[in-house]
Amino acid sequence: MTVCNSCRYCEGLCAVFPAMEMRRAFSDGDLNYLANLCHACGACYTDCQFSPPHEYNVNVPQTLAIARAESYAAYAWPRALSGLFARNGIAISVIAALSVAAFIFGFAAFIDPEVLHGVHTGPGAFYKLMPHNAMAALFGVAFLYAILALIMGVRAFWRDIGEPVGRHADAGSLFQAMRDAGELRYLDGGGVGCFNEDDRPTDRRKVFHHLTFYGFLLCFAATCVGTLYHYLLGREAPYPWWDLPVVLGTLGGIGLLIGPLGLLAEKSKRDPVLVDQARSGMDKAFILMLFLTAVTGLALLLWRETSAMGPLLALHLGVVFALFITLPYGKFVHGIYRYAALVRYARERRMMMGHGS
Ligand code: SF4
Ligand code: SF4
Repeated sequence: MTVCNSCRYCEGLCAVFPAMEMRRAFSDGDLNYLANLCHACGACYTDCQFSPPHEYNVNVPQTLAIARAESYAAYAWPRALSGLFARNGIAISVIAALSVAAFIFGFAAFIDPEVLHGVHTGPGAFYKLMPHNAMAALFGVAFLYAILALIMGVRAFWRDIGEPVGRHADAGSLFQAMRDAGELRYLDGGGVGCFNEDDRPTDRRKVFHHLTFYGFLLCFAATCVGTLYHYLLGREAPYPWWDLPVVLGTLGGIGLLIGPLGLLAEKSKRDPVLVDQARSGMDKAFILMLFLTAVTGLALLLWRETSAMGPLLALHLGVVFALFITLPYGKFVHGIYRYAALVRYARERRMMMGHGS
């Protein structure tokens, strides 16, 4: 950062360099802020006259990728679980396997085989296999725990990057950060595209990330609408294919099929010099969890009116439960910390222009 601060050649590429130029010294919190502001487009490696084989050995994307991964563990809540980030690919795989096995054995142990392998249709069909209250309690607790752990993590991050806890960001900065995150504004190498396997920029990573991100949001929206249907309208799942929760879930599921597959393909081609190779398992594990959530969800939708519904429901619930409880301990946190870093950046810019305090 000190070399870059003298050079400043890359200041038009993304938010990292202007944010860096506002500083002379770099605390751990500053570095974690810059690391999470970086979108890993790779442009500053390709453009840098001091990158290897130059003796300065400047490699901003890889350095910030390593700092970013270390920041996830540093802010994990509770701290005792920060070790889950160390061998994250293995940890997530084991948790997912245990969760799926628990649901399959639970279904096999507690449900009459005739009911488990029977054909159930119409409202309330799923709840013949697992009572709605049990499902809502189990997943509600897992989801609330994930939200609590994520809030505690981002609170520590927010404080460490120089923002007092309790001071709320202004609406203008929150909105600006939401736009920047929603557009992936800084994943474009300053306008030319993202560098992946060579020095020819493309928009492929941005497109696949959009499909994944918006697919995830649509699936989340489907779950929220389904919950409102249940509690406000008294309408029980499963819903017909044309109903809002199914339409949202299907569109989201398709996004979560194509996006993660594309991201995995891009990752397999990515120039190793740009990435934190020690932690590539973390990225792949999260992408695979999203893909499995979509595959099992769409399979359940397709075969929900057959005798395969019971085993498919167990499989899908096992994957979703594992996804929920691992959200605070995997790559998902990058979205939360990046958004907080973008808010901080928007605030700094506004303060520089005299629009706030
Ligand atoms: S990455 Fe290289 S070219 Fe870009 S600002 Fe840093 S030292 Fe300069
Ligand atoms: S990799 Fe891209 S986003 Fe990250 S610092 Fe370099 S230019 Fe900025």
